[in-house]
Amino acid sequence: MDEVIIVGAGVGGLTLGLALHQAKIPCRIFESAAEIRAVGVGINLLPHATKELAALGLEQALTKAAIATTDATFFNRFGQLIYREPLGFAAGYDHPQLSIHRGDLQIALLEAFRARAGGDRIITNRHCVAVEQDERGVTATFSDGPGGATRTTARGRIAIACDGINSAVRKQFFPNEGEPRYSGVNMWRGATRWRPILSGASMVRAGWLSHGKMVIYPIRSAGADGLQLVNWVAEIETPNYRKRDWNRSGSLDDFIGAFADWHFDWLDVPAFIRAADSVLEFPMVDQDPLPRWSFGRVTLLGDAAHPMVPRGSNGAGQAILDARALTAALLEYPDPVEALAAYEKQRLEATTRIVLTNRSNPPDAILREVFERTNDKPFDAIEDVISRDELVALSESYKRIAGYSREALR
Ligand SMILES: Cc1cc2nc3c(=O)[nH]c(=O)nc-3n(C[C@H](O)[C@H](O)[C@H](O)COP(=O)(O)OP(=O)(O)OC[C@H]3O[C@@H](n4cnc5c(N)ncnc54)[C@H](O)[C@@H]3O)c2cc1C
Repeated sequence: MDEVIIVGAGVGGLTLGLALHQAKIPCRIFESAAEIRAVGVGINLLPHATKELAALGLEQALTKAAIATTDATFFNRFGQLIYREPLGFAAGYDHPQLSIHRGDLQIALLEAFRARAGGDRIITNRHCVAVEQDERGVTATFSDGPGGATRTTARGRIAIACDGINSAVRKQFFPNEGEPRYSGVNMWRGATRWRPILSGASMVRAGWLSHGKMVIYPIRSAGADGLQLVNWVAEIETPNYRKRDWNRSGSLDDFIGAFADWHFDWLDVPAFIRAADSVLEFPMVDQDPLPRWSFGRVTLLGDAAHPMVPRGSNGAGQAILDARALTAALLEYPDPVEALAAYEKQRLEATTRIVLTNRSNPPDAILREVFERTNDKPFDAIEDVISRDELVALSESYKRIAGYSREALR
Protein backbone atom coordinates (compact mmCIF):
# COMPACT_ATOMS: atom_id res chain seq x y z
CA MET A 1 0.00 0.00 0.00
CA ASP A 2 1.36 3.44 -0.82
CA GLU A 3 -0.91 5.45 1.43
CA VAL A 4 0.05 7.66 4.35
CA ILE A 5 -1.11 6.30 7.71
CA ILE A 6 -2.33 9.07 10.01
CA VAL A 7 -2.66 8.08 13.68
CA GLY A 8 -5.32 10.21 15.43
CA ALA A 9 -8.27 12.27 14.15
CA GLY A 10 -7.77 15.40 16.26
CA VAL A 11 -7.17 18.85 14.82
CA GLY A 12 -3.71 17.88 13.52
CA GLY A 13 -4.64 14.50 12.01
CA LEU A 14 -7.76 15.79 10.26
CA THR A 15 -6.00 18.87 8.88
CA LEU A 16 -3.21 16.64 7.61
CA GLY A 17 -5.79 14.37 5.97
CA LEU A 18 -7.37 17.36 4.22
CA ALA A 19 -4.01 18.79 3.13
CA LEU A 20 -2.80 15.42 1.76
CA HIS A 21 -6.10 14.90 -0.05
CA GLN A 22 -5.79 18.35 -1.64
CA ALA A 23 -2.23 17.41 -2.72
CA LYS A 24 -3.56 14.12 -4.17
CA ILE A 25 -1.52 12.04 -1.73
CA PRO A 26 -3.60 9.05 -0.58
CA CYS A 27 -4.00 8.66 3.18
CA ARG A 28 -6.08 6.92 5.83
CA ILE A 29 -6.79 8.14 9.36
CA PHE A 30 -6.96 5.71 12.31
CA GLU A 31 -8.65 7.09 15.45
CA SER A 32 -8.64 5.52 18.90
CA ALA A 33 -12.14 6.65 19.92
CA ALA A 34 -15.08 4.46 18.90
CA GLU A 35 -16.93 7.57 17.78
CA ILE A 36 -15.71 11.12 17.17
CA ARG A 37 -17.74 13.36 19.44
CA ALA A 38 -17.62 17.12 19.82
CA VAL A 39 -15.62 17.23 23.05
CA GLY A 40 -13.56 20.00 24.62
CA VAL A 41 -14.29 23.65 25.18
CA GLY A 42 -12.84 26.73 23.48
CA ILE A 43 -9.84 26.92 21.19
CA ASN A 44 -8.29 29.85 19.36
CA LEU A 45 -6.95 29.89 15.84
CA LEU A 46 -4.55 32.75 15.15
CA PRO A 47 -4.19 34.32 11.68
CA HIS A 48 -1.26 32.09 10.64
CA ALA A 49 -3.50 29.05 11.18
CA THR A 50 -6.63 30.53 9.58
CA LYS A 51 -4.49 31.43 6.55
CA GLU A 52 -3.65 27.72 6.16
CA LEU A 53 -7.28 26.73 6.70
CA ALA A 54 -8.30 29.26 4.02
CA ALA A 55 -5.91 27.52 1.60
CA LEU A 56 -7.86 24.31 2.37
CA GLY A 57 -11.12 26.07 1.53
CA LEU A 58 -12.36 26.01 5.13
CA GLU A 59 -12.15 29.61 6.32
CA GLN A 60 -15.74 30.53 5.51
CA ALA A 61 -17.34 27.47 7.09
CA LEU A 62 -15.24 27.87 10.22
CA THR A 63 -15.90 31.59 10.49
CA LYS A 64 -19.63 30.82 10.49
CA ALA A 65 -19.23 28.40 13.39
CA ALA A 66 -16.86 30.67 15.33
CA ILE A 67 -16.42 34.19 16.64
CA ALA A 68 -13.98 36.39 14.71
CA THR A 69 -12.20 37.81 17.74
CA THR A 70 -11.66 41.58 17.56
CA ASP A 71 -9.53 42.49 20.56
CA ALA A 72 -7.31 41.24 23.37
CA THR A 73 -8.10 43.06 26.58
CA PHE A 74 -6.12 42.77 29.82
CA PHE A 75 -7.30 43.68 33.35
CA ASN A 76 -5.80 43.35 36.82
CA ARG A 77 -7.75 41.45 39.50
CA PHE A 78 -9.43 44.68 40.53
CA GLY A 79 -11.05 44.93 37.11
CA GLN A 80 -8.87 47.87 35.99
CA LEU A 81 -8.02 48.04 32.30
CA ILE A 82 -4.32 47.51 31.59
CA TYR A 83 -4.14 47.16 27.82
CA ARG A 84 -6.29 46.57 24.78
CA GLU A 85 -5.14 45.74 21.26
CA PRO A 86 -6.97 44.78 18.07
CA LEU A 87 -6.73 41.20 16.75
CA GLY A 88 -7.27 39.44 13.43
CA PHE A 89 -9.11 41.48 10.78
CA ALA A 90 -9.43 44.37 13.23
CA ALA A 91 -5.62 44.49 13.43
CA GLY A 92 -5.23 44.56 9.65
CA TYR A 93 -4.52 40.86 9.07
CA ASP A 94 -5.80 39.26 5.87
CA HIS A 95 -7.24 36.38 7.92
CA PRO A 96 -9.26 36.35 11.13
CA GLN A 97 -8.44 35.15 14.61
CA LEU A 98 -11.17 32.63 15.37
CA SER A 99 -12.41 31.61 18.80
CA ILE A 100 -14.25 28.34 18.34
CA HIS A 101 -15.60 25.37 20.28
CA ARG A 102 -13.06 22.56 19.83
CA GLY A 103 -15.92 20.23 18.97
CA ASP A 104 -17.20 22.57 16.24
CA LEU A 105 -13.70 22.74 14.78
CA GLN A 106 -13.15 18.99 14.89
CA ILE A 107 -16.56 18.18 13.40
CA ALA A 108 -16.10 20.77 10.60
CA LEU A 109 -12.72 19.22 9.73
CA LEU A 110 -14.17 15.71 9.96
CA GLU A 111 -17.15 16.48 7.73
CA ALA A 112 -14.92 18.15 5.13
CA PHE A 113 -12.54 15.18 5.16
CA ARG A 114 -15.35 12.63 4.82
CA ALA A 115 -17.00 14.61 2.01
CA ARG A 116 -13.77 15.10 0.07
CA ALA A 117 -11.77 11.93 0.69
CA GLY A 118 -14.61 9.50 1.50
CA GLY A 119 -15.94 7.99 4.73
CA ASP A 120 -13.84 4.84 4.28
CA ARG A 121 -10.65 6.92 4.65
CA ILE A 122 -11.22 7.27 8.39
CA ILE A 123 -11.43 4.28 10.71
CA THR A 124 -12.44 4.62 14.35
CA ASN A 125 -11.84 2.24 17.26
CA ARG A 126 -8.20 1.81 16.18
CA HIS A 127 -5.83 2.61 19.02
CA CYS A 128 -2.25 2.55 17.77
CA VAL A 129 0.03 0.45 19.98
CA ALA A 130 3.14 0.15 17.79
CA VAL A 131 4.67 1.19 14.48
CA GLU A 132 7.34 -0.88 12.70
CA GLN A 133 9.15 -0.13 9.46
CA ASP A 134 11.36 -1.66 6.77
CA GLU A 135 12.89 -0.24 3.56
CA ARG A 136 9.57 -0.33 1.73
CA GLY A 137 7.03 0.88 4.22
CA VAL A 138 5.48 0.87 7.71
CA THR A 139 3.15 -1.43 9.60
CA ALA A 140 1.01 0.09 12.31
CA THR A 141 -0.61 -2.17 14.91
CA PHE A 142 -3.88 -1.20 16.57
CA SER A 143 -6.02 -2.47 19.44
CA ASP A 144 -9.79 -1.99 19.33
CA GLY A 145 -9.75 1.17 21.46
CA PRO A 146 -7.37 1.82 24.39
CA GLY A 147 -6.65 -1.48 26.15
CA GLY A 148 -8.70 -3.52 23.64
CA ALA A 149 -7.73 -7.18 23.12
CA THR A 150 -8.23 -7.46 19.35
CA ARG A 151 -5.22 -6.59 17.20
CA THR A 152 -5.33 -5.32 13.58
CA THR A 153 -2.57 -3.94 11.37
CA ALA A 154 -2.34 -1.47 8.50
CA ARG A 155 0.44 -1.17 5.99
CA GLY A 156 1.44 2.18 4.46
CA ARG A 157 4.27 4.16 2.88
CA ILE A 158 4.83 6.33 5.96
CA ALA A 159 3.10 6.87 9.33
CA ILE A 160 2.40 10.22 10.96
CA ALA A 161 1.64 10.23 14.69
CA CYS A 162 -1.03 12.84 15.42
CA ASP A 163 -2.09 11.08 18.61
CA GLY A 164 -1.91 14.01 21.00
CA ILE A 165 -0.15 14.71 24.27
CA ASN A 166 -0.15 11.08 25.45
CA SER A 167 1.13 9.85 22.06
CA ALA A 168 1.82 6.10 21.99
CA VAL A 169 4.20 6.56 19.05
CA ARG A 170 6.22 9.24 20.85
CA LYS A 171 6.51 6.83 23.82
CA GLN A 172 7.78 4.13 21.47
CA PHE A 173 10.66 6.40 20.35
CA PHE A 174 11.24 8.01 23.75
CA PRO A 175 10.34 5.30 26.26
CA ASN A 176 12.08 7.01 29.20
CA GLU A 177 10.53 10.43 28.79
CA GLY A 178 8.02 10.12 31.62
CA GLU A 179 4.68 11.81 32.20
CA PRO A 180 3.87 15.33 30.92
CA ARG A 181 5.55 18.05 32.98
CA TYR A 182 3.26 19.95 35.37
CA SER A 183 3.66 23.74 35.14
CA GLY A 184 2.49 24.38 38.71
CA VAL A 185 -0.80 25.84 37.44
CA ASN A 186 -4.09 23.99 37.58
CA MET A 187 -6.99 24.93 35.28
CA TRP A 188 -10.76 24.76 35.56
CA ARG A 189 -12.64 25.33 32.32
CA GLY A 190 -16.22 25.76 31.27
CA ALA A 191 -18.60 27.52 28.93
CA THR A 192 -21.45 29.79 30.04
CA ARG A 193 -24.33 31.19 28.00
CA TRP A 194 -24.12 34.92 28.76
CA ARG A 195 -24.84 38.38 27.39
CA PRO A 196 -22.06 39.76 25.13
CA ILE A 197 -19.10 40.90 27.24
CA LEU A 198 -17.25 44.09 26.18
CA SER A 199 -17.22 44.05 22.33
CA GLY A 200 -18.99 40.69 22.21
CA ALA A 201 -15.86 39.38 20.44
CA SER A 202 -13.20 40.23 23.04
CA MET A 203 -10.57 37.92 24.45
CA VAL A 204 -10.21 38.91 28.09
CA ARG A 205 -7.29 38.03 30.34
CA ALA A 206 -7.48 39.19 33.96
CA GLY A 207 -5.65 38.75 37.27
CA TRP A 208 -2.49 36.73 37.73
CA LEU A 209 -1.70 33.06 38.31
CA SER A 210 -0.66 33.36 41.97
CA HIS A 211 -4.08 34.61 43.11
CA GLY A 212 -6.18 33.47 40.18
CA LYS A 213 -6.25 34.41 36.53
CA MET A 214 -9.23 34.25 34.16
CA VAL A 215 -9.28 33.92 30.38
CA ILE A 216 -12.71 34.61 28.87
CA TYR A 217 -13.85 34.66 25.23
CA PRO A 218 -17.07 33.92 23.32
CA ILE A 219 -17.04 30.93 20.94
CA ARG A 220 -20.51 31.00 19.35
CA SER A 221 -22.70 33.87 18.13
CA ALA A 222 -25.72 34.93 20.16
CA GLY A 223 -28.98 33.05 19.63
CA ALA A 224 -32.49 34.53 19.62
CA ASP A 225 -32.21 35.06 23.39
CA GLY A 226 -29.19 37.35 22.86
CA LEU A 227 -26.86 35.00 24.77
CA GLN A 228 -23.49 33.83 23.48
CA LEU A 229 -21.64 30.67 24.45
CA VAL A 230 -18.64 32.09 26.32
CA ASN A 231 -15.58 29.98 27.10
CA TRP A 232 -13.66 30.59 30.31
CA VAL A 233 -10.59 29.22 32.00
CA ALA A 234 -9.59 29.81 35.62
CA GLU A 235 -5.86 29.30 36.16
CA ILE A 236 -4.37 29.12 39.65
CA GLU A 237 -0.90 28.21 40.91
CA THR A 238 -1.19 25.16 43.14
CA PRO A 239 1.04 22.17 43.92
CA ASN A 240 -1.98 19.84 43.69
CA TYR A 241 -3.08 18.30 40.42
CA ARG A 242 -4.36 15.10 38.95
CA LYS A 243 -3.21 13.47 35.71
CA ARG A 244 -4.61 15.18 32.60
CA ASP A 245 -7.85 13.70 31.40
CA TRP A 246 -9.67 15.88 28.87
CA ASN A 247 -13.07 14.82 30.25
CA ARG A 248 -12.52 15.02 34.02
CA SER A 249 -15.15 17.15 35.74
CA GLY A 250 -14.07 19.73 38.28
CA SER A 251 -15.71 21.28 41.30
CA LEU A 252 -16.63 24.98 41.61
CA ASP A 253 -15.70 24.98 45.29
CA ASP A 254 -12.08 24.16 44.46
CA PHE A 255 -11.47 27.49 42.72
CA ILE A 256 -14.37 29.96 42.84
CA GLY A 257 -13.09 31.48 46.11
CA ALA A 258 -10.21 33.06 44.17
CA PHE A 259 -12.73 35.13 42.20
CA ALA A 260 -15.29 35.80 44.95
CA ASP A 261 -14.88 39.60 44.85
CA TRP A 262 -14.54 39.97 41.07
CA HIS A 263 -17.70 42.06 40.62
CA PHE A 264 -16.77 44.43 37.77
CA ASP A 265 -18.81 46.85 35.67
CA TRP A 266 -17.86 44.74 32.60
CA LEU A 267 -18.69 41.38 34.23
CA ASP A 268 -19.84 39.79 37.48
CA VAL A 269 -17.27 36.98 37.35
CA PRO A 270 -18.58 34.70 40.17
CA ALA A 271 -22.14 34.85 38.77
CA PHE A 272 -20.79 34.14 35.30
CA ILE A 273 -18.78 31.11 36.48
CA ARG A 274 -21.71 29.73 38.48
CA ALA A 275 -23.93 29.87 35.39
CA ALA A 276 -21.76 27.35 33.50
CA ASP A 277 -23.35 24.04 32.50
CA SER A 278 -20.38 22.07 33.73
CA VAL A 279 -16.78 22.48 34.84
CA LEU A 280 -13.77 20.54 33.57
CA GLU A 281 -10.50 20.37 35.47
CA PHE A 282 -7.08 19.74 34.07
CA PRO A 283 -3.49 20.53 34.90
CA MET A 284 -1.46 22.85 32.69
CA VAL A 285 1.21 20.53 31.31
CA ASP A 286 3.70 20.28 28.47
CA GLN A 287 6.82 18.27 27.67
CA ASP A 288 10.42 19.32 27.15
CA PRO A 289 11.13 19.81 23.43
CA LEU A 290 12.45 16.68 21.70
CA PRO A 291 15.78 16.45 19.85
CA ARG A 292 14.06 14.82 16.86
CA TRP A 293 10.62 13.78 15.59
CA SER A 294 11.39 11.84 12.40
CA PHE A 295 12.64 8.25 12.45
CA GLY A 296 12.91 7.02 8.87
CA ARG A 297 9.34 6.63 7.65
CA VAL A 298 7.65 7.73 10.89
CA THR A 299 7.26 11.22 12.35
CA LEU A 300 5.31 13.13 14.99
CA LEU A 301 2.90 16.06 14.46
CA GLY A 302 0.91 18.48 16.67
CA ASP A 303 0.71 17.75 20.40
CA ALA A 304 2.44 14.41 19.87
CA ALA A 305 5.50 16.35 18.70
CA HIS A 306 5.41 19.54 20.79
CA PRO A 307 2.77 19.72 23.55
CA MET A 308 2.75 23.26 24.95
CA VAL A 309 1.06 25.01 27.85
CA PRO A 310 -2.05 26.79 26.53
CA ARG A 311 -0.92 30.34 27.27
CA GLY A 312 -0.43 31.58 23.73
CA SER A 313 -3.53 30.24 21.88
CA ASN A 314 -1.15 28.24 19.72
CA GLY A 315 -1.65 24.47 20.26
CA ALA A 316 -4.19 23.84 17.52
CA GLY A 317 -2.61 26.41 15.20
CA GLN A 318 0.84 24.83 15.36
CA ALA A 319 -0.66 21.41 14.55
CA ILE A 320 -2.29 23.00 11.48
CA LEU A 321 1.02 24.59 10.44
CA ASP A 322 2.78 21.22 10.88
CA ALA A 323 0.21 19.54 8.63
CA ARG A 324 0.71 22.02 5.82
CA ALA A 325 4.52 21.94 6.13
CA LEU A 326 4.58 18.14 6.07
CA THR A 327 2.37 18.03 2.98
CA ALA A 328 4.62 20.52 1.19
CA ALA A 329 7.70 18.44 2.09
CA LEU A 330 6.06 15.25 0.73
CA LEU A 331 5.34 17.09 -2.53
CA GLU A 332 8.88 18.42 -2.75
CA TYR A 333 10.86 15.25 -1.92
CA PRO A 334 10.04 12.01 -3.74
CA ASP A 335 11.93 10.05 -1.06
CA PRO A 336 9.62 9.94 1.99
CA VAL A 337 12.50 9.63 4.45
CA GLU A 338 14.00 12.84 3.08
CA ALA A 339 10.59 14.51 3.20
CA LEU A 340 10.06 13.67 6.88
CA ALA A 341 13.57 14.92 7.70
CA ALA A 342 12.90 18.18 5.82
CA TYR A 343 9.58 18.63 7.67
CA GLU A 344 11.36 18.18 11.01
CA LYS A 345 14.03 20.68 9.99
CA GLN A 346 11.42 23.27 9.15
CA ARG A 347 9.18 22.81 12.18
CA LEU A 348 11.13 21.46 15.17
CA GLU A 349 13.16 24.55 16.00
CA ALA A 350 10.22 26.90 15.36
CA THR A 351 7.90 24.99 17.71
CA THR A 352 10.64 24.51 20.33
CA ARG A 353 10.86 28.30 20.64
CA ILE A 354 7.10 28.50 21.19
CA VAL A 355 7.02 25.70 23.79
CA LEU A 356 9.74 27.48 25.80
CA THR A 357 8.27 30.98 25.36
CA ASN A 358 4.84 29.75 26.46
CA ARG A 359 6.49 28.75 29.75
CA SER A 360 8.29 32.06 30.31
CA ASN A 361 6.85 34.96 28.28
CA PRO A 362 3.49 34.26 26.67
CA PRO A 363 1.04 37.15 26.03
CA ASP A 364 -0.08 37.12 29.67
CA ALA A 365 3.42 38.30 30.66
CA ILE A 366 1.67 41.69 30.51
CA LEU A 367 -0.38 40.66 33.55
CA ARG A 368 2.71 39.43 35.40
CA GLU A 369 4.54 42.72 34.78
CA VAL A 370 1.70 44.79 36.21
CA PHE A 371 1.16 42.39 39.11
CA GLU A 372 4.83 42.66 40.10
CA ARG A 373 5.22 46.40 39.54
CA THR A 374 2.10 47.29 41.53
CA ASN A 375 2.75 44.73 44.24
CA ASP A 376 -0.73 43.43 43.48
CA LYS A 377 -2.41 46.73 44.37
CA PRO A 378 -4.88 48.84 42.35
CA PHE A 379 -3.22 51.65 40.36
CA ASP A 380 -4.27 55.26 39.79
CA ALA A 381 -3.19 55.39 36.15
CA ILE A 382 -1.70 52.55 34.14
CA GLU A 383 0.88 54.93 32.60
CA ASP A 384 2.44 55.28 36.07
CA VAL A 385 3.03 51.52 36.08
CA ILE A 386 4.02 50.62 32.53
CA SER A 387 4.23 52.58 29.30
CA ARG A 388 2.12 51.83 26.25
CA ASP A 389 5.35 51.16 24.31
CA GLU A 390 6.40 48.46 26.77
CA LEU A 391 2.98 46.82 26.57
CA VAL A 392 3.08 46.82 22.78
CA ALA A 393 6.64 45.43 22.84
CA LEU A 394 5.62 42.54 25.14
CA SER A 395 2.74 41.63 22.84
CA GLU A 396 4.67 41.99 19.58
CA SER A 397 7.59 39.92 20.81
CA TYR A 398 5.33 36.87 21.30
CA LYS A 399 3.78 37.32 17.86
CA ARG A 400 7.22 37.28 16.25
CA ILE A 401 8.31 34.14 18.13
CA ALA A 402 5.05 32.34 17.39
CA GLY A 403 5.23 33.32 13.71
CA TYR A 404 2.14 35.48 13.31
CA SER A 405 3.41 39.03 13.23
CA ARG A 406 1.67 40.91 10.41
CA GLU A 407 4.95 41.27 8.52
CA ALA A 408 5.64 37.51 8.69
CA LEU A 409 2.24 36.68 7.23
CA ARG A 410 2.45 39.11 4.33
C1 LIG B 1 -10.86 15.16 24.06
C2 LIG B 1 -9.99 16.38 23.89
C3 LIG B 1 -10.44 17.62 24.35
C4 LIG B 1 -9.65 18.75 24.19
N1 LIG B 1 -10.14 19.94 24.63
C5 LIG B 1 -9.42 21.06 24.44
C6 LIG B 1 -9.95 22.33 24.80
O1 LIG B 1 -11.06 22.44 25.31
N2 LIG B 1 -9.19 23.44 24.57
C7 LIG B 1 -7.94 23.35 24.02
O2 LIG B 1 -7.27 24.38 23.85
N3 LIG B 1 -7.42 22.16 23.67
C8 LIG B 1 -8.12 21.02 23.85
N4 LIG B 1 -7.60 19.82 23.44
C9 LIG B 1 -6.25 19.78 22.86
C10 LIG B 1 -6.19 20.36 21.47
O3 LIG B 1 -7.12 19.75 20.64
C11 LIG B 1 -4.77 20.16 20.97
O4 LIG B 1 -3.88 20.81 21.85
C12 LIG B 1 -4.49 20.78 19.61
O5 LIG B 1 -5.64 20.97 18.87
C13 LIG B 1 -3.49 19.93 18.82
O6 LIG B 1 -4.19 18.86 18.22
P1 LIG B 1 -3.63 17.43 18.00
O7 LIG B 1 -4.38 16.89 16.82
O8 LIG B 1 -2.16 17.39 17.96
O9 LIG B 1 -4.05 16.62 19.29
P2 LIG B 1 -5.50 16.25 19.83
O10 LIG B 1 -6.49 17.27 19.45
O11 LIG B 1 -5.31 15.91 21.25
O12 LIG B 1 -5.90 14.92 19.00
C14 LIG B 1 -5.29 13.66 19.20
C15 LIG B 1 -6.23 12.61 18.62
O13 LIG B 1 -5.57 11.34 18.63
C16 LIG B 1 -6.41 10.35 19.19
N5 LIG B 1 -5.54 9.34 19.79
C17 LIG B 1 -4.88 9.40 20.97
N6 LIG B 1 -4.11 8.30 21.13
C18 LIG B 1 -4.28 7.53 20.02
C19 LIG B 1 -3.73 6.29 19.60
N7 LIG B 1 -2.82 5.62 20.34
N8 LIG B 1 -4.15 5.78 18.41
C20 LIG B 1 -5.05 6.45 17.62
N9 LIG B 1 -5.59 7.65 17.99
C21 LIG B 1 -5.19 8.18 19.16
C22 LIG B 1 -7.26 11.13 20.19
O14 LIG B 1 -8.46 10.45 20.50
C23 LIG B 1 -7.50 12.43 19.43
O15 LIG B 1 -8.59 12.35 18.57
C24 LIG B 1 -8.37 18.66 23.59
C25 LIG B 1 -7.89 17.41 23.12
C26 LIG B 1 -8.69 16.27 23.28
C27 LIG B 1 -8.18 14.93 22.76
